Amino acid sequence: MIESSKNSPSRIVSEREEEYFARVEFERKQKEAQEREAKLKEEERRQRKALHFMCCPKCGMELIEIEYKGVKIDKCSDCAGVWLDCGELERILGTDRNFLAEMLDIFRRKTD
Ligand SMILES: [Zn+2]
Repeated sequence: MIESSKNSPSRIVSEREEEYFARVEFERKQKEAQEREAKLKEEERRQRKALHFMCCPKCGMELIEIEYKGVKIDKCSDCAGVWLDCGELERILGTDRNFLAEMLDIFRRKTD
């Protein structure tokens, strides 16, 4: 005779299977949700990059790129801030001791 009471071994196994499948289903949906979230973040990142490309990090106005001694220097068209890309400061400091002094003369903000 098949026992069908609440605590029968077959019912316990069945509940464990249900728990297992529910957990697997949850983990699958959780992974899908995380992938959607990552996609959204990547899209937001791409949009931010496009929005801020060659804009001054301080005032948001357009940056003008000037190449000086092989280093591309970005100078703000409005606040006159000078910005260097990753590795450019090391290149400047590693090559020419007078570079910074010369650069200051060239990029110094005009005073009235
Ligand atoms: Zn600026």
